[in-house]
Amino acid sequence: MRAEIVSVGTEILLGNLVDTNAAFIAEKMASLGISISRINAVGDRWQDLYQTLEETLRRVDLIVITGGLGPTEDDITKEVLSRLMGENLVLDEGILAGIRRRFRGHRIPEKAARKQAMIPASAKKIPNPVGTAPGIILEKDDKTIILLPGVPREMRKMMEGELYPYLLSRLGTEELISSRTLKVWGMGESQVNEKIADIMLRQSNPKVGLLAKRGEIHISITGQFAPEVVGEKIKTVEDQIRGRLGSSIWGVDEETLEGIVARLLKKRGLRIAVAESCTGGLVSHRLTNIPGSSDYFTYGIIGYSNQAKSIFLGVPASLIKRRGAVSPEVAKKMAQGVRKAGEAHLGLGITGIAGPSGGSRNKPVGLVYISLSSPEGEICERFLFPGGREDIKWKASQGALDMLRKYL
Ligand code: ATP
Ligand code: MG
Repeated sequence: MRAEIVSVGTEILLGNLVDTNAAFIAEKMASLGISISRINAVGDRWQDLYQTLEETLRRVDLIVITGGLGPTEDDITKEVLSRLMGENLVLDEGILAGIRRRFRGHRIPEKAARKQAMIPASAKKIPNPVGTAPGIILEKDDKTIILLPGVPREMRKMMEGELYPYLLSRLGTEELISSRTLKVWGMGESQVNEKIADIMLRQSNPKVGLLAKRGEIHISITGQFAPEVVGEKIKTVEDQIRGRLGSSIWGVDEETLEGIVARLLKKRGLRIAVAESCTGGLVSHRLTNIPGSSDYFTYGIIGYSNQAKSIFLGVPASLIKRRGAVSPEVAKKMAQGVRKAGEAHLGLGITGIAGPSGGSRNKPVGLVYISLSSPEGEICERFLFPGGREDIKWKASQGALDMLRKYL
């Protein structure tokens, strides 16, 4: 079944409000196997809204509308819909009593209360446990129109509560849409594409898509199948892709690199110390975001100036002078120094140029050296990250955590 979403609100059109309601509804619908063929945004002008709804009804049999159910003059969604569907708006005494109960002790203008208590004559209401305006389901002429409040909390409660079983029973969906995201570090979009192009082209269900995100590539696998087989179908494609990309895939779905590294450090009973220059503490911050980080994180230092690198990390001043602060030699010394000072099994050293100034022909902005010191010695990698200052810091932190992950 195909459906459309209509988000009502001039704020969305002005760019003042990001339409998160549509994203939420789309995701919920997808999990039911209802595919959203369009998301429409429209302001609260009568004519615009009327036309949008009219057109949408010509395309699909199910529409979910959010916004404009409130008590004010600019809330016109119910009124427009009723006119379009040839419905009368009638006062629902139950809703009115509910609104009065909710506002007991406070004055609520009679007009506002009555406006919110009006629903199309043949509609069903969806109770609003956290607000005043109820949601509405209107089934008419083979069309189903669902009206939800714009306030995200209220809309979500209805979507997850009353509405979910309604949609399930109404639509009796046999197929579920399920999706899995594989996250790749250290390869560009075209490299990933080259490795898995045939897998991507071979099939449309599950469908494989690529998305470049903050210096890494996310591979999405989305399939629509009967509930008993959907997991296995997606797993088959995942295994094929893993066969091509191996350890470049660092995680899936909501996993974070720091979460994965933390788990591996704990499992192996290893402790880490971190010396950071251009990342300004970001790696330490990310590692300590994980609850229980004191089990594996001992020491973090931001050795920003040359002096700090010498005094706190034992990097010889002469080495910095000879090779420059941004050099593989200094990165290694930082890793070594912090490992020793931090009484850790492992040490990370990160030095680079986050920009926008400070670059040169030999050492451009985005140049970062990352070193990992372990009982087996030091390894060091050179990176050249594109982007602005924050991008470079983030990517450097990602590079450092991934180096650690691969070692572990
Ligand atoms: P109210 O009774 O508050 O008037 P309503 O159902 O009329 O509720 P709107 O007036 O359209 O809803 O929106 C109320 C608030 O909810 C907006 O100011 C905005 O903060 C939020 N909101 C509305 N639509 C969306 C949306 N599509 N995505 C995210 N937030 C939204
Ligand atoms: Mg409103």
